[in-house]
Amino acid sequence: MAFKTIKRPKISLGERFYLQSILGGLWLTIRHLVLALLGKSRNKKELAGSGIGVTMQYPEARWDKHLPKYYRGAPVLVKGEDGRERCVSCQLCEFICPARAITITPGPIQEGPWGKVEKAPREFQIDMLRCIYCGMCEEACPEQAIFMSHNYLFTPTDKTQAIHNKAKLYELGGTRKGLVNKWNQYK
Ligand code: SF4
Ligand code: SF4
Repeated sequence: MAFKTIKRPKISLGERFYLQSILGGLWLTIRHLVLALLGKSRNKKELAGSGIGVTMQYPEARWDKHLPKYYRGAPVLVKGEDGRERCVSCQLCEFICPARAITITPGPIQEGPWGKVEKAPREFQIDMLRCIYCGMCEEACPEQAIFMSHNYLFTPTDKTQAIHNKAKLYELGGTRKGLVNKWNQYK
């Protein structure tokens, strides 16, 4: 069997002691400190809580207004403009969820011409201790019924509060307008 000997690259004393990286990090910190003391920090207005604009005083000050559209907070269920549940209990989100955080119990719907044909969730639970906020459920949903909200305020004091049931999911999600409507008979 042939072996190939590879020469280790020579590293300088500075590289051996990570001098370049340490000095680079110190320079960054000192630059931020000087800018803050001069009142010239980036995002000074938003981070005004500390007075010099370097630390956000959470929870009094929050990033809410600055969250990008694509921010992924807690997954929620939404209703249509007519107040009906958009979810048809297809369980695709439950299947795709990598953390196995979703548990759905499908049930029939009673009212309307689609009664006993369409389904709706009898119960829908998301275990927020398992959820990794990946957004796969939103991607998989064919009915635009589940969305990643901008809600990141999640501080349960016991495990039962960490399980978001159907009522809680609709409370957080509310109604969304302008979506594909599954109840449209021309669809
Ligand atoms: S965001 Fe990801 S982990 Fe959380 S419920 Fe949806 S699919 Fe599961
Ligand atoms: S939320 Fe969407 S993907 Fe999940 S069960 Fe309901 S319709 Fe299906």
